Amino acid sequence: MTNVGPASRERAVKIAALLREELSRHLPVDKTIASFGQVDACVRREQGQLFPLRDHLRGMILAMLSANRPWKPIANNMARLAEIFGGFKPSFLENTPAESLEASVKAIGCGNRRVSFQMRAIQPNIATFRRLDSDAGTIDAFVADQPIETVVRELGAGRYKLRELGPTLVLEYLKNVGIRANKPDVHVLRICGPSRLGILSADASPLTAFHEFRAFANAAGMHEVELDNQIWLLGAEEYASICGATPKCAACALRSVCRQNQAT
Ligand code: SF4
Repeated sequence: MTNVGPASRERAVKIAALLREELSRHLPVDKTIASFGQVDACVRREQGQLFPLRDHLRGMILAMLSANRPWKPIANNMARLAEIFGGFKPSFLENTPAESLEASVKAIGCGNRRVSFQMRAIQPNIATFRRLDSDAGTIDAFVADQPIETVVRELGAGRYKLRELGPTLVLEYLKNVGIRANKPDVHVLRICGPSRLGILSADASPLTAFHEFRAFANAAGMHEVELDNQIWLLGAEEYASICGATPKCAACALRSVCRQNQAT
């Protein structure tokens, strides 16, 4: 557990305020976060909603499609994707050839370099979800009731390994089904690392980064998933596009709290 003292809390609150200020210059923050649906999914789950297998398949497939590519074309094609994947119904996905799904996804510009493997992973992954259902009750109970470290280990690399989903994409999938989580991917690690916002320690393992990010969100008084979404928006080229590989520090509201600025 990461300890957070008063000074850290004050800094966390300040960073959160400046982050929103900067994002607000580029996009409607709340509307954009709402369009991702992950915070809303958490609220629904915490109000008692259960998520059927169909929602888990949607969350898993969207996580797959998000890998190594811009998100906006996928966001803009969400209705079309729901059609292509038959509303994410298990029976449809179990009976539709992977080649057909791959061709349809590519036709609307939503593929990535793993899409062929990803589409071929859907049916084996449904079989894994069904195995988990019979072993643990339901997949929904499994992801909601187990410690998140267990869920990520089991689905990302363990007994119930989901093809084409490593631990990072498992975290993305979990956010899609309303589990409070954060995804320390390459962009978040860069923005939050010791040379920029200093939220994460140097050479943090993925698990350490996950917990440090969570502790920071708590210190800032923010919903962990909302903070995750906001940090991602700050760097994403098709959204705020401020803190990418080449950061635009001169125009950034976070300059006063950012180590990148202090180093230059
Ligand atoms: S000041 Fe520069 S490095 Fe820091 S958050 Fe802003 S753009 Fe990123």
